[in-house]
Amino acid sequence: MTDSKPFPLPDLGHGPTAPLWAAAARNEFALPRCETCGTFDWYPKGHCRKCNGEKIEWVPLSGRGTLFSWAVVKRALHKPLAPIAPYVSAIVVIDEDRLTRFVTRLIACDPQALHAGMPVEVRFADLGYPALETGIVAPLFAPTTTNGRDEG
Ligand SMILES: [Zn+2]
Repeated sequence: MTDSKPFPLPDLGHGPTAPLWAAAARNEFALPRCETCGTFDWYPKGHCRKCNGEKIEWVPLSGRGTLFSWAVVKRALHKPLAPIAPYVSAIVVIDEDRLTRFVTRLIACDPQALHAGMPVEVRFADLGYPALETGIVAPLFAPTTTNGRDEG
């Protein structure tokens, strides 16, 4: 690769989202939730959107959800992402809360076969998967396999 710019990596130490990356490193999908009323706080604001409570706990989730929306990126706007294009950017609704939507990347899928509402499940993979090892485990998603076979 001739590009000198690094692959764009998240700041694992960024306070509001650091627990997401720490959980992913343990192959857990966790999001923050209000201890008072149980409303999820994603993307984290540090206080509950429903009751304004400030006691927020990170809880492990099932990792299951449904596809809300997506875009197939054929030409990466950021050059370091070119090796993984075409890729699918997606918004997933988590099973635990229909109002919580998680921005992610869909892997192990046929972009032509995607449809709104299709079941998806978390897959823990290197963020650069499959083109570039970054050493950062990310909660990516894939269509739920009906036969239990891992295609990713
Ligand atoms: Zn609350």
